Amino acid sequence: MKILLITLFIFLSVFSSYSQKQSKEKHIPDILGYHTLKCDFHMHTIFSDGKVWPTVRVTEALKEGLDAIALTDHIGISKRVKDVNKNLNRAYEIAVQEAENSGLIVIKGAELTYHSPPGHFNALFLRDAQKLDTTDFWYAFEEAKKQGAFLIWNHSIWKAPDSTFIQNGIAEWTNTHTKLFNKGMIMGMEVVNGQKYCIEAHQWCLEKNITMFGNSDIHQPITFDYQDKNRTRPLTLVFAKEKTESAIKEALLQKRTVVWFNNSLIGKEEFLTPLLHSIVSVSDVAYYEDVAEVRLKNNSAFDMILANIGDYSFINRTRIFTLKAGEEFILGVKTGEQLNKFKLKFKILNLLVSTEQSLIGEFECKLGNKKAVGRKAYK
Ligand SMILES: [Zn+2]
Ligand SMILES: [Zn+2]
Repeated sequence: MKILLITLFIFLSVFSSYSQKQSKEKHIPDILGYHTLKCDFHMHTIFSDGKVWPTVRVTEALKEGLDAIALTDHIGISKRVKDVNKNLNRAYEIAVQEAENSGLIVIKGAELTYHSPPGHFNALFLRDAQKLDTTDFWYAFEEAKKQGAFLIWNHSIWKAPDSTFIQNGIAEWTNTHTKLFNKGMIMGMEVVNGQKYCIEAHQWCLEKNITMFGNSDIHQPITFDYQDKNRTRPLTLVFAKEKTESAIKEALLQKRTVVWFNNSLIGKEEFLTPLLHSIVSVSDVAYYEDVAEVRLKNNSAFDMILANIGDYSFINRTRIFTLKAGEEFILGVKTGEQLNKFKLKFKILNLLVSTEQSLIGEFECKLGNKKAVGRKAYK
């Protein structure tokens, strides 16, 4: 009995530290009463030009603590027809079975693959991807719409090699794109695709109120491109009412997303401001002599690069400093005299509200009953 209890104890402690480690990975808090879901809506498998079996995408996503993925194999590119059946729904069927009871949401998708214009578009929430297999792109877009799909213009800076465009890294919005947009067929754009940030797409999303995406477009095993190179996989953070496929679709239609790209978050101020305040907290405000102490804490897996634009300088930090993921420390604020309350004001350099501007955030500091730590706080 004793041995059994000890075994159980060991198992539970190992398991709980394992699950804590898992949940801490890429932790981003919920905001505004929504669930913050970590999603990657663009990836490939052996069923087009990817290099992995669909179950691998599920395992990778679970390992990274993602909430939803879409497998979006190319329509018209099936490099392995000698080895696997040409069936555009099959990768989804395999993945969805693998993800059963895991909590991971798998969305049926496909990548409409045409020369530019229109270029490559992901269609999400499809019923039957097979019906989109045509060289007539207007037919494919109409069919996707008929199936209630959400359409995303992918990597708009990329133009097919034999198109008339020059590969200069600058995305071009053509008449075809205006036609597509007017028909409600450009619902989302990839501001980030893999390691590429598209400033034009970022601008168009803001100007034309298009949903922003950051996706991996991964073809290899994910570790080859990211973990092995110490990179962070790009993600789309979706603010959804529930952790369900239909709630994700509703959130995408309502444009409630933020893009996570390396050490930046890209999105609208209405989402970045509440994210900032749920990630960074100030507490335990106290005075030691005439220097204010403020406990600053980063409650996420995301580093915050702060630039001080407030009225006071700091005793233990320069104007610009990084509040690292999970970090907590006491900031010494030189208010000059003891104040009952004061404000800290920062520009958060890596939270981008537009192509030019970073988010500005203010933190109200009110003197509490906490005893000051004193000079040793900065040693
Ligand atoms: Zn593509
Ligand atoms: Zn792709």
